[in-house]
Amino acid sequence: MSSSDREQRHQNRMQRKKTVVDAAIARADRHQGLLLVLTGNGKGKSSSAFGMAARALGHDMKVGVAQFIKGCSNTGEEGFFRRQPGVVWHVLGEGFTWETQNLARDTATAQHGWSIAQTMLHDASLGLVILDELTYPLKYGWLKIESVLADLQARPPMQHVVITGRAAPEALCEAADTVTELRDVKHAFRAGVQAQKGIDL
Ligand code: ATP
Ligand code: MG
Repeated sequence: MSSSDREQRHQNRMQRKKTVVDAAIARADRHQGLLLVLTGNGKGKSSSAFGMAARALGHDMKVGVAQFIKGCSNTGEEGFFRRQPGVVWHVLGEGFTWETQNLARDTATAQHGWSIAQTMLHDASLGLVILDELTYPLKYGWLKIESVLADLQARPPMQHVVITGRAAPEALCEAADTVTELRDVKHAFRAGVQAQKGIDL
């Protein structure tokens, strides 16, 4: 095949692709607040959520963050985002359940945390709300999935919500608009490498 034939074939293929892509873009003509779930065992759930926080701030939107598991945290993202105007940041957990080992306290902590999340889900000035590690209180039954879903459903129509954490309940994934499962292929921790600043925290 001559090089001009190859060029022509490439152009035809790209033209067909463009027709398909343009039609898909034309079909997606609505604006609405989205519910996103980032789940699975692979690394990248919380850091993806905070990437969206950066995007939203770049558009002058206000962002609310609630972290459900971490008790005190001094992650890079917390340090960075707390300095930004337009960010509300709540640390609502007391650490992992295998650290606290107290069911009644874990339940009370999660329920207090959810009351703070509810105030954000009522605040239409927040364009994006991140509920980081919310799947754990749901998985352990400290929060009722039905009431969490009802509060999510009743949020302002243009507000986006991102929920992260492993083992997202089925009902949450069904209610969500976008669900991504991150798959663990390999993680340096298993080769004995500690959590690294800038990468893991
Ligand atoms: P990140 O905050 O890096 O996006 P994540 O939110 O997907 O990670 P979590 O389950 O919340 O993951 O775990 C938080 C911490 O555990 C991070 O330091 C992360 O690098 C690390 N981590 C994530 N996935 C794994 C894994 N499969 N094995 C070991 N450590 C992991
Ligand atoms: Mg996380």
